[in-house]
Amino acid sequence: METKSGNASSTMILHNAVIVTMDNESRVFRNGGVFIARDQIKAIGQSADILRQFSSLTDQLVDLHGRILLPGLINTHVHTSQQLARGIADDVDLMTWLHDRIWPYESNMTEEDSYISTLLCGIELIHSGVTCFAEAGGQHVTGMAKAVELLGIRACLVQSTTDSGEGLPASWAARTTDDCIQVVRNLFYDLSNFYMTEANFLTSRMQSQKQLYEKHHNTADERIRVWLGIRQVMNSTDALLLKTRDAARELKTGIHMVLSSSFCSLSVADEDCIGDRMEPERVCVKHVAEIPYENQLVMNTREVDHGTVTYLDKIGFLQNNLLSAHTVWVNSTEIGFLSRTGVKVSHCPAAAMRMLGFAPIKEMLKADICVSLGTDGAPSNNRMSIVDEMYLASLINKGREVFANGTTDPTALPAETVLRMATINGAKSVLWDNEIGSLEIGKKADMVVVDPFSWSMVPVHDWITSLVYCMRTENVVSVMCNGQWIMKDKKILSVDERAIISAAKQASTELLKRAGITLPNRMNVL
Ligand SMILES: [Zn+2]
Repeated sequence: METKSGNASSTMILHNAVIVTMDNESRVFRNGGVFIARDQIKAIGQSADILRQFSSLTDQLVDLHGRILLPGLINTHVHTSQQLARGIADDVDLMTWLHDRIWPYESNMTEEDSYISTLLCGIELIHSGVTCFAEAGGQHVTGMAKAVELLGIRACLVQSTTDSGEGLPASWAARTTDDCIQVVRNLFYDLSNFYMTEANFLTSRMQSQKQLYEKHHNTADERIRVWLGIRQVMNSTDALLLKTRDAARELKTGIHMVLSSSFCSLSVADEDCIGDRMEPERVCVKHVAEIPYENQLVMNTREVDHGTVTYLDKIGFLQNNLLSAHTVWVNSTEIGFLSRTGVKVSHCPAAAMRMLGFAPIKEMLKADICVSLGTDGAPSNNRMSIVDEMYLASLINKGREVFANGTTDPTALPAETVLRMATINGAKSVLWDNEIGSLEIGKKADMVVVDPFSWSMVPVHDWITSLVYCMRTENVVSVMCNGQWIMKDKKILSVDERAIISAAKQASTELLKRAGITLPNRMNVL
């Protein structure tokens, strides 16, 4: 990249790029340019016009040599706390995953672990072109926030929140509904001491979501927002659900919740669910007897005729600031509820294939539901690349057509729809589309440079399909967030990647030891 001056410029022109704006008119400039001042896009259009109008005003001129410029990608469901748990729960059933691996792991995390885990996760997110993510609900928001500030990306952070349910770790089971929501004065928390003493480790667990909101919302140059979380309906009392709804309204923030993610019961699968035309006796029978699946449990305990979405509609919980992750086992009536109330859905194709099932994404999009893309956490997916999720989303939803309707449909989730899910729909899902999700005048300068001139993408006849079907994480070469390069020529500028990898290996080993997690050998290890 050529420059007229140093790195710390407040104005910049990027030119000679294929610019995929993802704006309302779906404009793509074959040879486009963009003028940026500080953190904002001030002009966008044909390269020649941008150069003519703004060259004399700019500190820095960057020739992208025909590479592709995209809005920063948005990952709307990721567990930053779980990055140190990558590989600890492969090929295990859901109950083993939860009770023997993930809950012991998460309940033994310190704030330092959360900080390192978020840094490691952030590195992978940035390499895959992500400039904004929605945390699904993990441990120690303060550790996450410190990492996000350093990484230079944007995030909606959420504390994992539970106030009931079977088999929870003791420290989580002790929390009351008020502990989860209200401001609880914390006499021992020492803001100046990042490393945890025993006293502040214990009391930091007691930080309520409102306290975390007060402390971190709109910090880090307003790149951090704090949302409220509901881990899942099975671990939430009605009081927690309704107080969370009311607190989010009061704070004007969002709610992130996993919804309708576990298998239906046999009877429901057989009759109603759109997403499960698979033979239920082949898929569901085995599991129904083993664990209380979400929809069945809700039907049994909360007196509704389907599952979680039906129940949440009944109690008035569904609203347009709710980001519903997974949302696999919903019927057509429930799709109507989600559409009517403006709930956003995060589709996580890799995690769905490992643990959950086929979500009726085509039907949701047809019902005008805003659907975006997420990776889920490292123990559910292993790869935190939204580039991979774009490819999977398209293939899985095309493949599901055979399964659901008995015939192929190669037009299901076309490339332009998938690209929209990873950009502007992502921005709408995190309630931030007034500032991010597309390249337009007045929006934040969050953007990604893709090099399509390598073996994985050449030849490029159609930019949009190439971005969805050919692009690999390795094609993402540079990433800008809030007007600052956070990765340039594949080198992360905001943090020391090698030092973080080294710290992560050590922290992960110690954490697993503390949590008593050991993995059986799969082969004859000598
Ligand atoms: Zn998740």
